[in-house]
Amino acid sequence: MADPTKIAFIGLGQMGLPMTRNLLRAGFPICGFDRNPDAAAALRSAPGFVQAPSAAGAVAEAEVVILMLPSSAVVDDLLWQQGLAERLLAGQIVLDMGSCDPVCSRANEQRLQALGVGFVDAPVSGGVRRAVDASLAIMIGGATESVDRVRPLLQALGKTLVHVGAAGAGHAVKALNNYVSAAGMLAACEALTAAQAFGIDPHLVNQVFNASTGKNNTTEHKVEAFMLSGAFNSGFALALMRKDLQTAADFIDRMDTPGDFARRCLQTWQDAQAVLEDGADHTALYRFIQRD
Ligand code: NAD
Repeated sequence: MADPTKIAFIGLGQMGLPMTRNLLRAGFPICGFDRNPDAAAALRSAPGFVQAPSAAGAVAEAEVVILMLPSSAVVDDLLWQQGLAERLLAGQIVLDMGSCDPVCSRANEQRLQALGVGFVDAPVSGGVRRAVDASLAIMIGGATESVDRVRPLLQALGKTLVHVGAAGAGHAVKALNNYVSAAGMLAACEALTAAQAFGIDPHLVNQVFNASTGKNNTTEHKVEAFMLSGAFNSGFALALMRKDLQTAADFIDRMDTPGDFARRCLQTWQDAQAVLEDGADHTALYRFIQRD
C-alpha cells in the first residue's frame, strides 16, 4: 500500500483544529502552522503531528497544502505577498478549504498552474460541530485529476462531497450557501422578535417553526442552543459570515443576476458587525435585532 499523503495544514483555528485531528486519526502525517503559536497547543502531543515554525517550513515536505484561513485576502497575502507560492514545489496541490472568493481562487489556480502546482477549492459547511464529528458537507472545485488526488483526505473530513465544477466553483457555491443560510437566520431573528413583542414565548414560536414550513437550519440548530440560551458561542464569527455575504453579493453582481435581497441582507449583517463587540459569534445577530 502507498504511504499516506503528507499534509501541510495552515490555519489551526475553530475549524482547522478539529479537521487536523480527524486527518491524524485517519493516519495522515501533518506538519501544521498557525500564525498564533498557541493555536497548535492542543495538538503538540498528537501522534503524527509536527508544529512548523513558519508556513514555508510546513510546506517543505508536503504533498498537499491545506489552507483553512479566514479569507481570500489572507490566502493571497500568504501566497503572493509573503512569498509562500515561491516555496511550493511542482506536483504539490494547494487545497483551499476556507470560505474564499471564487474569482480570486480561479486566479490562484492559474498562477499556481504556471508553477506546476495544482489547486483545489473545497470549502466546508456544517460548523464546528460537524468539523468535530467529520460529517462536513464539502463543495469541491478543480480539475478532476487534482480532485481525485485529494479525495481520500476530504473523505476523512466530511460525509457529503460534491464536485461542483472547475476551480472557484466550490467557493462560489459556499458563498451562495452562506447567503441562503444568513438570510434564513435574519428572517428567524426578525420573526422571533416580533412574536415576543406581541407577548408570545419565543421557545413556543420556534417549536412551531420546526414543525412547520418556516423550519430552517437556524430554527433547527441555533435558536435554542445559541440564541435563546444566551450562549452565543457556536464557534462561527459574525465577521466571517458578513465576509461570506459580501463574497456572495459581489459574486451575484459580477454574474449580473438579480441580487436586491442579497444586498439588503448584507446591509443588516454589516450594521450588526458595526454595533456588536469584536469577535461576536454570528448567532449574536439575534441580540442585534432585539436591540434594533
Ligand atoms: P478562525 O479565525 O477560528 O481560524 C483561522 C486561523 O487562521 C486562526 O487560528 C488564525 O490565527 C490563522 N491565521 C490567520 N492568518 C494566518 C496566516 N497568515 N498564517 C497562518 N495562520 C493564519 O476561523 P475558522 O472559524 O476556523 O474559519 C476558517 C475558515 O473556515 C473561514 O474562511 C471561515 O469562513 C470558514 N468556515 C468557518 C466555519 C465555522 O463554523 N467556524 C464553518 C464553515 C467555514
